[in-house]
Amino acid sequence: MAFQTEKYLSLTQDLLKTKTHLVAVSKTKPIQDLEEAYKAGVRDFGENYVQELIQKEALLPKDIHWHFIGHLQSNKIKMIAPFVYLIHGVDSEKLLIEINKQGQKINRKIKCLLQIHIAKEETKFGLDQNELNEILQKYLLPNSSPLEFVEICGLMGMASFTVEDYIVDKEFNQLHQIFNETKHKLNYPTNFNILSMGMSNDYVIAIKNGSNLIRIGSALFGER
Ligand SMILES: *Cc1c(COP(=O)(O)O)cnc(C)c1O
Repeated sequence: MAFQTEKYLSLTQDLLKTKTHLVAVSKTKPIQDLEEAYKAGVRDFGENYVQELIQKEALLPKDIHWHFIGHLQSNKIKMIAPFVYLIHGVDSEKLLIEINKQGQKINRKIKCLLQIHIAKEETKFGLDQNELNEILQKYLLPNSSPLEFVEICGLMGMASFTVEDYIVDKEFNQLHQIFNETKHKLNYPTNFNILSMGMSNDYVIAIKNGSNLIRIGSALFGER
């Protein structure tokens, strides 16, 4: 199935009302599908695999914002550091420090989101509350020592994979609260403004719970 242009256009109309931004998740899809999406107006693409992201970036127009939404391995940061627009899934302090190091090498401040574990599944990645607090204490709160080449722009999370909407609702609500509390604690002008949550099957619930960046794959590009 090709890119669903009609669906994309009507979705972007809906999103205007809630001021929600959209990342079109193009992982595993061929370059032709991304070109179609680009023609329809998509400028924010999300990819999960470093190799695939690099190949696509080289072939497509330079005004695209590339979002890395997968699980990032430390040794691959340097491959995307020069161009990546936003890294969504930062789930350890170690990774944050490594991103900072790679940013420093090329003198580029790299935008990141901290991934928070909200789902019931053990397998989903993300920081727990303690780990988040530790990072805030060290690098974000007033009187901490910020990492110079990392800009922490907000939080990202994935809800449980379930048909029970109330569970998803509860998890997104929890992340929204953590986001608001964190923003409140920072208490000085920052760019900590992004709450990335919601995918094809749960973005409506995510938006209801304050998401301002949804990551949509299969609903636009078809099943993988
Ligand atoms: C694949 C993926 C998406 C998109 O999922 P769909 O259900 O296809 O919309 C969003 N976020 C992350 C982190 C993903 O890995």
